[in-house]
Formats: sequence, structure tokens, C-alpha cells
Amino acid sequence: MPGTHTSIFDRTSLLARELGAINLGQGFPDLPEPRELLEAAQRALVERSNQYPPMRGLPELRQAVCHYYAREQGLELTPEEVVVTAGATGALAAAIFALLQPGEEAIAFQPFYDAYVPLVERAGGTVRALTLSAPDWGLPLDEIEAAIGPATRMIVLNTPNNPTGRLVDRASLEALGALCERHDLLLLCDEVWEGMIYGERRHVSALSVPALRDRTVKVGSAGKIFSLTGWKVGWAVATPPLAEALARQHQYLNFTIAAPLQWAVAEGLALPSQWHAAHRDRYAAARERLVRGLTPAGYAVLPADGTWFVTIDLAASGLPADDEAVAERMVREAGVAAIPVSAFYRDDPERSYLRLCFAKEDATLDEAVERLAEFRRTALPPHRRCPA
Ligand code: PMP
Ligand code: GLN
Repeated sequence: MPGTHTSIFDRTSLLARELGAINLGQGFPDLPEPRELLEAAQRALVERSNQYPPMRGLPELRQAVCHYYAREQGLELTPEEVVVTAGATGALAAAIFALLQPGEEAIAFQPFYDAYVPLVERAGGTVRALTLSAPDWGLPLDEIEAAIGPATRMIVLNTPNNPTGRLVDRASLEALGALCERHDLLLLCDEVWEGMIYGERRHVSALSVPALRDRTVKVGSAGKIFSLTGWKVGWAVATPPLAEALARQHQYLNFTIAAPLQWAVAEGLALPSQWHAAHRDRYAAARERLVRGLTPAGYAVLPADGTWFVTIDLAASGLPADDEAVAERMVREAGVAAIPVSAFYRDDPERSYLRLCFAKEDATLDEAVERLAEFRRTALPPHRRCPA
């Protein structure tokens, strides 16, 4: 792929390993992995077939995805609307390759997840990047309408959002739906963080908005729902003609996904809501722990609804608004790796934000907070140092 490079996530993890730093960069958990899923995979491996599963995914898993979304999000889906893919990344690739033709344009919102731009460009399309603004990172509806041109085919949205952690509310999705209808656009809605929401607010799936029901490809990931990022089992959900188009791409990208893991994910999705809530609570507690440590140490933490990430505002924390330079010093001087949010921009990046992953054991978070508190005390010029 021309113009691509090693991702910020890999680069950060590599540097953290080299330096022996605490890695709050790349988003992966080190909390205990759900036994139910590991045991289900083990059983499937010895008791079920290990040959090619059906191209679109095991019928049992596709059905389980429908039941899970019916229970958790009130969606009415049929298995023919589900295609099981190699993680959410496989679903994003298949959807973009299927639905975007060379010369067409996708509108996407920066800060955006790093896969969108290279995939659209690989499909021969271009990304029209619109910028979201802190602290709400809300959808700029007027700007979207103004950005739509004759080549615009698709909007790419991510809710809850990585890196900001914010949700898109129902009213904004409805407005977006009206706009997609008016201009006959498709929506690629990356909802991989749907299971990791902590406050009062609830996830609204684009598929629950009537105007978007037949125009949306919803993308999900078992890696996120079950904190098993290495499994790389994901799916796309869309009305049958869109699912069919996407499956035709999937058949030449991966054809099918590891059979035992599909069985295990099907079992996991069928676990009761209480199980899923308890799993999520462990992450809510981790989030709370990191925020409670960082705030008295003088860090300004932005509000967020979900994901495994918190964002700190460097300028508001009295640190230089130069995320790459601060991240570099943080990993080398304090031994804590973070992701500069400017990496999630294509044009004119914001440089005042750092993303930290909190999906870690208490002791790791406590040690990171201690190091970051010391870093802030010593990184500031003497007249601006906080008394603590
Ligand atoms: N989309 C977003 C917004 C993500 O944050 C991630 C992973 N962090 C992915 C897609 C990729 O998910 P997967 O590992 O299932 O391919
Ligand atoms: N999505 C993960 C993150 O945001 C990283 C995935 C990857 O390494 N490609 O940290």
C-alpha cells in the first residue's frame, strides 16, 4: 500500500518493550481473560470440526450475533445479514472494497481509527476528512452536508469512538440518516466499542435508526466484547444485498475464520446480560482508578463514555501542547508509553492530546500514575510546578 507505514500502535509497543516501559499505548487488556470463552474454544478444538467453516461464518455464530444484538440493542436481524470476518478490520476492508468504487469518496471524521484512510485509498477512493472538536467531539452535521459532492458514496463513522471515547447520540444519528437518504449515501458504522460503555449513556446502533437500516454496514468485534484482541473474530451486519456484496470481497480476503474461535464466540455471545455487565464493570473500575490517580496529579482528563482509553489534555495539564514530544519524553523519562492523538489525524492534527489505555491490572495502573505524577512535577518549568 503506497503511503502506509508501521502503525503508531506497533511502533509504541515496540519502543515500550525495548525500554521496559509500562505500555498504556496500544489498546489491549492485561486483565484476566474470560474462562468461559477459553474453555469453549478448548472444547471446540477437540470436539468440533477443524475444517473450513462456511464462508460467511458458522450459522450458529451468525444466529448468536442476531440474538446478542436483539437482547443488548433491540435490533431485529436475520443470520443472512451477518458476515463473520477476520476481526473488525476484515469487516472494514470487505465493506470498503465492496461498496466504494475507484474515484468515489468517503467522508470520515478525524481523529479517526488508523485503518480507514489506507483501506479507502486501496479501494481507489479518497477520504474527505472532517474534524471533530474536543471536549464533545460531536458530529459537525452542517459541515457534512456541505462536504457532500457528486463523488461522495459513503460516510465512515465510529461510535463509541477510538480515540475520544465519545458516543454519537440518537438525534445526531437521525440527522445523519436524513442526510444519507437525501444524498443516497451508505454508512459504514464501526461500533466495535459497543460493549464497553461506562456511564449513564447508552449505545445507539446506526441500524436502529429507520433511515439508516438499509444503508448501514455495522461492524462488531469479539476481540473488544470479550477482551480477546488476539482472536481477531469480527463481523459485518447489513441488509442482505449489502451483506452479499461484502461477502464476495471477504471470500477473497480471508474466505473464512478459525472454526474453534467461532464456536467459542457464539457461546460467549449467548452468556446472559449480567455476565456481560460484570465483564464491563471490571473495566469501568480500571477507568475510575486511572482517572482518580491522574486528576490529583494535575492531569486534565477529558470526559468520555466508553472504550479502553482516556484522553488527557496536555495544555490544560500545564504541559507543552506537543503530543509526540511529550509521549517521547514520557516513555523515556517516566517509563510510560501513550499514544499521541495527532496520529489519528490526516490533516492539521491537534497536538494537545494523549491517549492512555486503562485496561490494566490495578498495580500496573498505580505504578503508571505514580510515574506520571512525578513526570508532570519534573517536566514543568519550576514556576509552573504544582505543589503536590
Ligand atoms: N475499529 C476500531 C475503532 C478499533 O478501535 C479497532 C481495534 N482497536 C478495530 C476497528 C479493529 O478491531 P479488530 O481487532 O477486531 O480487527
Ligand atoms: N485498535 C487498537 C488501538 O486502538 C490497536 C490495534 C492495532 O494495533 N492495529 O490501540
